[in-house]
Amino acid sequence: MHQIFIDGAWVQPLEGPTHAVTNPATLEPIDTVADCGPVDVARAVDAAHAAQPGWQNVPAADRAALVREIGGRVHDNGRDLATLLTRETGKPLCESIDCIEAVVALFNACAAGASLSVGSPHRQPGAVVAAIAPFNFPMLFMACAIAPAIAAGDTVVCKPPPENPLSSLMLARACGALPPGVLNVITGGAEAGQALIEHADIGRVAFTGSAAVGRTIAAAAQGKPIDLEPGSVDAFIVCKDADLELAVPGIVWARLLNAGQVCTSGKHIYVERSIAAEFVERIHQCVGFLDVDDPMKPATDLGPLVSLDAARRVEDQVGRSLREGAKLILGGRRFRPSGLPGHFFQPTILSDVRAGSVPTREEILGPVITITPVIDAAEALRLARGSAPGCGASIYTSDPQAAVMAVEPLESGMFRINDPASGNTLGPFGGMRHRGILRELGGADVEVFQRSKYLRVAEAPQRKSWWFPYGARTRWTGCA
Ligand code: NAD
Repeated sequence: MHQIFIDGAWVQPLEGPTHAVTNPATLEPIDTVADCGPVDVARAVDAAHAAQPGWQNVPAADRAALVREIGGRVHDNGRDLATLLTRETGKPLCESIDCIEAVVALFNACAAGASLSVGSPHRQPGAVVAAIAPFNFPMLFMACAIAPAIAAGDTVVCKPPPENPLSSLMLARACGALPPGVLNVITGGAEAGQALIEHADIGRVAFTGSAAVGRTIAAAAQGKPIDLEPGSVDAFIVCKDADLELAVPGIVWARLLNAGQVCTSGKHIYVERSIAAEFVERIHQCVGFLDVDDPMKPATDLGPLVSLDAARRVEDQVGRSLREGAKLILGGRRFRPSGLPGHFFQPTILSDVRAGSVPTREEILGPVITITPVIDAAEALRLARGSAPGCGASIYTSDPQAAVMAVEPLESGMFRINDPASGNTLGPFGGMRHRGILRELGGADVEVFQRSKYLRVAEAPQRKSWWFPYGARTRWTGCA
């Protein structure tokens, strides 16, 4: 069984049942982890609590050097980390390498931020942070909590997702130079997460996951500051003057990245009726060329879903969408590419999706492209506002200035014009509707009471080298 990381040491969990972590493509077991309970949670929080005052008093420049060192170690172990990430998540290997590069960039950016810190009393650390991450980008969202927290002088207890916690445990190895207790990693599911959040010495919660669990966590946090990044149903809006040579491959990549288990891009497409037939035909052609296979193969575009439950949920959502009037253009079933026994789902296209039906009100975390024809962009925006927007919407048009004005009321934390999902590391990342708003009065903190929106207008819209097909990618550099 894999040990947990507490107070700078790898230790055996004291309690709880265990569960196997399996490769979702091959169903081979990779390792076993504990479902930690309150006793192990308390050990981890105690260690983080004891370490916090000392860590806060480490000069910012020294903290920054350690944070940068973690980025360097992640980079040096990039190949091994990416391989493990693919084995436990099922994401194509090149997507795992992208994740590792993003983690390295994040630690470097937070190191730079810590170096600049002048210790303003308005920005004091002083918390033990509970960091809870989702299955779709497990190590990246662990890093999103760890890097800024430790750079700021906080200490952290992480609980990675139960489906794929191993890369986060490996990330802890890269943090070995930190003083004991600054970073602690426990394993387990909802019970471990709940015990962690409810612990009296947790001062702040960083949660990324589903909206439903986010609501439970907000209640359990009992007033503790909380950063919620929950899932959402955002829109791709395709106007009749859009460049379809750009829109189609961009949307297909952004929607089907990580087998459609994505939070940062749109989930559902609204397309102006006058071009809907051509758009669907082009989407069909583009998806038809995708390679669904073992995610360890370099040319694989789509791997499996994370679990059997996930595959069954998507199958159910597709079935209900069809019963609510959608038209099946492609796919719709679980299958076994290359005879693999894992949780694969066919790339699926549903057209003529009715507004208000399943794809417009539920997050479909699978390789399912759903399309609703609309009269015009104004109707698309009205319908998009009525879904559950939050994280990452985009619009395709040849009139970006008009689009900037039009999308103002749309509550998506990130909005892209003629660009499907890139640029997340270039601007503020996250949703808009749920993020915790914190404390403080006074002019300097006016921005605390405003909500930021990341707006990206592609200056020279063009097809990106990191879109499908992955078989054509030449960029295998970066990680060691
Ligand atoms: P989930 O909400 O089921 O679980 C997320 C984490 O919370 C897991 O570690 C889980 O063990 C833990 N958890 C579950 N119940 C808990 C409880 N009662 N108390 C404490 N912790 C608990 O989400 P998931 O299925 O792992 O991930 C997919 C979801 O995450 C999707 O909705 C996706 O859109 C969302 N997501 C959002 C973003 C974003 O930035 N907005 C990014 C990635 C993923």
